[in-house]
Amino acid sequence: MQKQPTKKIYIKTYGCQMNVYDSNKMLDLLRVFGYTETENLPEADLVILNTCHIREKAAEKVYSELGTIKKLKEKRKASGNEMIIVVAGCVSQAEGDEIFTRAPYVDVVVGPQTYHNLPELIAKVSREKKIALDLDFPLVSKFDSLPDSQKIDGYTAFLTIQEGCDKFCKFCCVPYTRGAEYSRNLVEIYREALLLVEQGAIEISLLGQNVSAYHGLDHEGKEINISQLIEHLAKIPGLKRIRYTTSHPNDMFEDLAKLHGTEEKLMPFLHLPVQSGSNRILKAMNRKHTAERYLNIIAQYRKAKPDMLFSSDFIVGYPGETDEDFEDTMELVRKVRFALAYSFKYSIRPGTPAAVLENQVPEEVKSERLARLQALLAQQQDEINQESVGKVCNVLFEKKGKYPGQILGKNEYAQAVCAIGDESMFGKILPVKVNVVSGNTLSGEILN
Ligand code: SAM
Ligand code: SF4
Repeated sequence: MQKQPTKKIYIKTYGCQMNVYDSNKMLDLLRVFGYTETENLPEADLVILNTCHIREKAAEKVYSELGTIKKLKEKRKASGNEMIIVVAGCVSQAEGDEIFTRAPYVDVVVGPQTYHNLPELIAKVSREKKIALDLDFPLVSKFDSLPDSQKIDGYTAFLTIQEGCDKFCKFCCVPYTRGAEYSRNLVEIYREALLLVEQGAIEISLLGQNVSAYHGLDHEGKEINISQLIEHLAKIPGLKRIRYTTSHPNDMFEDLAKLHGTEEKLMPFLHLPVQSGSNRILKAMNRKHTAERYLNIIAQYRKAKPDMLFSSDFIVGYPGETDEDFEDTMELVRKVRFALAYSFKYSIRPGTPAAVLENQVPEEVKSERLARLQALLAQQQDEINQESVGKVCNVLFEKKGKYPGQILGKNEYAQAVCAIGDESMFGKILPVKVNVVSGNTLSGEILN
């Protein structure tokens, strides 16, 4: 493929942080071939939708977005310009060439494990005026073919350390779209972390579908777990904060909890999806953990680091969920007290085992349960936010706030905090005394 410095690329990312990481990597990859990023869709020579398949509406949103892009493509064609449309990510993997049937103006369909082939696929489309499809699960990891990161936005960065999933929860499409579990090795991860820090990263979030199941090889070929990996990364001088997400309750172990008590760079916040508080439903979901096991993990973390805050994911209305099962979920929420949570109505994903179950919960029951759960979670979040009033937290400031003179950042507990300040404070971790909570943002004054 020839270098074409004037080509513009527009990329839209749906879904999880891992997709954000992948989109950045696609940009890194295509910059080498002369593409520059644009936020102005009509001027794009190349449009990439990096999609998510986790819930039904996400895929429908992609098709509706494609309808709009189609018109822009036609306009560009009329003025003698090209617009190549790529659909990447999990919708591609799940829908395959059905995308070409529903949206025949799409040029490339590429899955999450083969996007490193994008330059070749795009060149093929340009050269041969043919569509291109690549949905393989290659034996050689895509990470071996991806270029180094070239720029990061702000002072926080994502770093994928583990991918795929072998757990097969019965509601979830991830094992089918992202493939089998795979852990990158220490040297690769350490090198990428060093590079991110060189580019200004102060905080790194280690990413994986099951990040705490990480089991990569170290520099001597010995298998290490996520605690050992974090201990290595914590030695990087400019790196001040480390987080990891998303964990599965079955992969949690005491050493990791204890590390929160001893490693200052490891932030006191854990996202640990539980999905349901009913053991009957957890079993039906094939989660392989119980509510009691979940509460034990929370207790372990609180013992190691008493100020730890927690977040979770919930699914309401899984097939067969009774009022009693749902009350168990509400009870678990009351026991834990979550600082943040993501809750969803169960959404049928074709091809997953739960999709064909006959005991589906009626939509109105799901809506009513979700509203009750979300009200409780919002109340807990507000109470936890209010508890920070009068306390001092440490905020990594990154951008301007909503109002003039205000700056915004995240504290160690991943809460949004704003204060009066200026751009010279961006990229610094500063102590802030919290005075007031507005919505989900804390505001306070920066201490000397
Ligand atoms: N690996 C993580 C775990 O084990 O919890 C979660 C990854 S998944 C990408 C993110 C969240 O999407 C899940 O925790 C679940 O709450 C939600 N989710 C997955 N499939 C779903 C479905 N069919 N309907 C509703 N929510 C779903
Ligand atoms: Fe999906 Fe379950 Fe794997 Fe998480 S652990 S990605 S919910 S199958």
